[in-house]
Amino acid sequence: MFTRMESAGTTDLHFCLDPASGLRAIIAIHSTHLGPAIGGCRFLPYANELDAVEDALRLAKGMSYKAALAGLPHGGGKSVIIYPEHEFDRHKLMKAFGKFIEALNGRYITAMDSGTLTTDMDAIACSTRWVSCTSQSGDPSPYTAIGVIEGIKAAVHYRYGKQDLEGLRVAIQGLGHVGMAVAAHLAMEGVHLTVTDIDASLVQTAIKEYSAHPVTPDAIYDVDADIFCPCGLGAILNDATLPRLKAPVIAGSANNQLAEERHGIALAERGILYVPDYVINSGGLIYVALTHANEEASVIRHKVMQINPTLQRIFQQAEDAKMAPFLLANQMAEQIFTSSKDQPNLGRDTYENGL
Ligand code: NAD
Repeated sequence: MFTRMESAGTTDLHFCLDPASGLRAIIAIHSTHLGPAIGGCRFLPYANELDAVEDALRLAKGMSYKAALAGLPHGGGKSVIIYPEHEFDRHKLMKAFGKFIEALNGRYITAMDSGTLTTDMDAIACSTRWVSCTSQSGDPSPYTAIGVIEGIKAAVHYRYGKQDLEGLRVAIQGLGHVGMAVAAHLAMEGVHLTVTDIDASLVQTAIKEYSAHPVTPDAIYDVDADIFCPCGLGAILNDATLPRLKAPVIAGSANNQLAEERHGIALAERGILYVPDYVINSGGLIYVALTHANEEASVIRHKVMQINPTLQRIFQQAEDAKMAPFLLANQMAEQIFTSSKDQPNLGRDTYENGL
């Protein structure tokens, strides 16, 4: 267990068993150097307990990178509730989970993730204030979409030397909460859209509202576009899809787009600009963190807009260092959350000034 924690660089791992509610939960805290750890709660069935621990460790680490480059005064954390095999009272279970979080005294702030709902966050909020994404705080997706648009603009400026998006061709994979909002923004800016989703009704909406051209889910990888915008699944940049991609830029909200690190390196070698996913999709985390800190909407929006200059800096520095931008982003994030050990105020400065 300690070897696994060490390789994930995680400082603490907490377990909670509450037989009365059926709660079996794990909280992984990767780092609190910049501030309290923040990250969502997954509520899923796991094949075994070790898989649940691995998931929490891996995801908590990812959140540290995301928070660092978003310039937030937070470290990364993640929690996992193992879906009970027997009947259970969901509200009671979530309240018990809230007590578990409360016992950590503010070291970890939870939010929604796969399998959890706003109503779960409301139940957790009955036991602790260290929770976001309640029905009062609202949906982070519109802010994720704003960040994706800023990321696309940064990539277009860097790759095509253009200040606006008019006339560009963008292929969007996935028209859910984020993808549809991105489609709406892009259509407003005069972008030609090609779209896909496994849900035909969402495709119909995009055709009707944004004059989008539909393709089947598998055909999206072959679209001749200026930008490929993955807003559905993870691991879509893999051995099977890489040879098919025609777009010189990949910029979308999906988490963990690279199946493996080597796929990111292969994209860079082919001259394709892959915009690091955890930077371009950090608008949601910024919203969650700053809403929890009771910041005004204008402050949150301003912070999300900083994704654009942050990415421009990453692209330029990566070019200077002859590195793939996603690798440089990792280095920058690591520098932020490790150097703060010796400079305790770095998190606050980064937060106020943008990265
Ligand atoms: P969502 O579930 O609302 O939308 C995903 C969409 O992708 C759905 O409409 C689904 O039908 C579609 N889809 C699934 N498989 C597909 C396939 N094979 N081909 C085409 N379409 C497919 O999710 P979301 O909240 O819009 O998030 C989209 C992605 O962005 C996810 O990877 C998520 O982890 C990531 N993300 C979301 C947020 C946020 O604020 N919602 C923040 C950061 C990252």
